[in-house]
Amino acid sequence: MLRRLRELMAEPVTAQERLDKIVKTIASNMVAEVCSIYVLRGDSRLELFATEGLKREAVHKSSLELGEGLVGTIAEEAEPLNLPNAQAHPAFAYLPETGEEIYHSFLGVPVLRGGQTLGVLVVQNRTQRTYSEEEVEALQTTAMVLAEIIAGDELDALVEPGENLALRRPQHLAGRILSEGIGLGHAVLHEPRLVVTSLIAEDVDTELVRLDAALDQLRTSVENLLTRSDILRAGEHREVLEAYRMFAYDQGWAARIREAVQTGLTAEAAVEKVQNDTRARMLRQTDPYLRDRLHDLDDLANRLLRTLVGFDHIDEAEMPKDAILIARNMGPAELLDYDSGGLRALVLEEGTPTSHVTIVARALGIATVGQVEGILDLVNPGDAIIVDGLSGEVHVRPPSDVEFAYVEKVRFRARRQEQYRKLRDKPATTRDGTPIAMLVNAGLLVDLPHVAEAGAAGIGLFRTELQFMVAETFPRMREQQMLYRSVLDAAGDLPVTFRSLDVGGDKVLPYMRSTQEENPALGWRAIRMALDRPGLLRTQIRALLHAAAGGDMRLMFPMITDVSEFDRARAMVEREKRHLERHGHALPDQILLGTMVEVPALLWQLEELVERVDFLSIGSNDLLQFLFAADRANAQVADRFDALSSGPLRALRDIVVTADAHDVPVTLCGELASDPLSAMALLGIGYRSISMAPAAVGPVKAMVRSLDVGALQSWLIPELAKPRSGLRKDLIAFAEDHDVQL
Ligand code: PEP
Ligand code: MG
Repeated sequence: MLRRLRELMAEPVTAQERLDKIVKTIASNMVAEVCSIYVLRGDSRLELFATEGLKREAVHKSSLELGEGLVGTIAEEAEPLNLPNAQAHPAFAYLPETGEEIYHSFLGVPVLRGGQTLGVLVVQNRTQRTYSEEEVEALQTTAMVLAEIIAGDELDALVEPGENLALRRPQHLAGRILSEGIGLGHAVLHEPRLVVTSLIAEDVDTELVRLDAALDQLRTSVENLLTRSDILRAGEHREVLEAYRMFAYDQGWAARIREAVQTGLTAEAAVEKVQNDTRARMLRQTDPYLRDRLHDLDDLANRLLRTLVGFDHIDEAEMPKDAILIARNMGPAELLDYDSGGLRALVLEEGTPTSHVTIVARALGIATVGQVEGILDLVNPGDAIIVDGLSGEVHVRPPSDVEFAYVEKVRFRARRQEQYRKLRDKPATTRDGTPIAMLVNAGLLVDLPHVAEAGAAGIGLFRTELQFMVAETFPRMREQQMLYRSVLDAAGDLPVTFRSLDVGGDKVLPYMRSTQEENPALGWRAIRMALDRPGLLRTQIRALLHAAAGGDMRLMFPMITDVSEFDRARAMVEREKRHLERHGHALPDQILLGTMVEVPALLWQLEELVERVDFLSIGSNDLLQFLFAADRANAQVADRFDALSSGPLRALRDIVVTADAHDVPVTLCGELASDPLSAMALLGIGYRSISMAPAAVGPVKAMVRSLDVGALQSWLIPELAKPRSGLRKDLIAFAEDHDVQL
């Protein structure tokens, strides 16, 4: 039968004629009186596209809802139904126009491709009989051939105008915003699903030999991965690899593939057939652990397919200019391998706001949405996609009205960007003449061009841990020194404030052993770890002293909770300085040491603090999460309390008042400074230096230049002293009344 089908695929006939011939061939081969093909449309109805045995008039007229009748049930559950008496089945739905009442036995299988149901293939007989295991297998194999036809564009001609096949229907998915922005473009799969086009074997023995060779190669590659020590240290990877190894040696899996080859399929088609079963099981599996393992098995099958087809990697030259990259997950280095100029957006099935790939995507300014479940199964390479990294939505094959709306949105954003660009060389001075230091937060080399582009006055926070997070192993002193030197070079005369390593807690380094903590944000992190393991901090200080030789060095310490911790950190700097001096190394002309204020306990040690430090920097992200006792990474509580309320604003005001009284420079470098309204409030309570995400410089500068900060202060400061709570509404009203650009 497969041979005959192959011939049919190649015949120069119309799409309808081909389908008609296919149902005839299947019916006669399976000695069935009926064979019908139902194709899933974009409106979730299964339309009868061809039949042998049922009434011809019903073709393209008869249809069933997904989940309705036997055919709808098969499509929904992605499972075959084999029934001696179809009419006795509770799901049976009678379609009078087809004349099917005289047929009793029924065998239907889903037409699957890449985990998606494209249609249903059915055979029926008058007599009450149960189809054999071999017949079910044969029909499933035939369904794979049909899947190729449906996935091609041939059948589009048979679809009513205004309607489309399910395979091409628009989809709207929701995920989590990882990196802000909007991207319109065309899908590129990071690890493309291989489409097996050669389905039918010329010679079964040859295929068996190919399969065995590929399985051997697969096992060797998994073993190699397992012996690589750098991967072994990461606990999570190991679990996945162990699962890979288990599956790679699973005799049941290999036997099922071999059986499929014996029915006449090529080795790759056989792998795909077994993979279809795995995917159908995956769809129904509710236990997350088992679903993950099925995912692993699916990944392994993909590897096997790649070996068989000899696929290597995506050819960059074939990447569309407006690529939207889709992946289950990826490492930061993999993302950097793509030419970021051509990437419009990134969509991940996994990914979290603090994952490394997210950090890199943000640094590259690539709109990213993560935790978009099931997207890989829905997208075909080249599909039109819109990624809305402002709302967390992803539109696959968007209808024209959605696309139009987004084109407008992008245009609007571009116009605003253009306005901000024009502000670049204008001073960041308020309308009433107060200069504001507008700095940016950075952490990777790719951030550096933004400093100049944004027209910032320097780097207010350089997160040194990012280099550690994207690396495979601990960056050595030389590597650290080189990065710091490049940062200082890129900044030229502008000041750069480095922050010492802020790892631990949720910022884990894959190559560093860590213990599970109940409350990682309150755990062994940042300066706490640095003081307990002085080797790390010492190396970093030395790298910085070298890098800043002959210039200014500014370093601050994160998570200081008690002023004595700052004393100890400063003593370490002094020691390193003396050490280098003794060995005749050049030193920075000036060393300025500061503290991040992000632990509430410091609020009642401000007097002691300002006596000691050269500067202060408020980490409002952490300070607010601790003030509110609300986890900044937990979507359920992160936005529950408003920073623009008297409680937190009074705390922030106390800091700036004390710092000013002692002439200690103070900057605020948390996300609060990136939002124009919040930044306005900060200026209103006395801050004159703020550090923000590079993309925020434009909007915040527009606010600054339109603000009469004197007027704001004379209203806000007395207001703060009054017994009251929320201030957001009043701040917005102030901005509106005073024409402040938000
Ligand atoms: C902060 O806590 O506000 C801060 C700037 O540091 P991070 O976001 O890196 O914790
Ligand atoms: Mg912090």
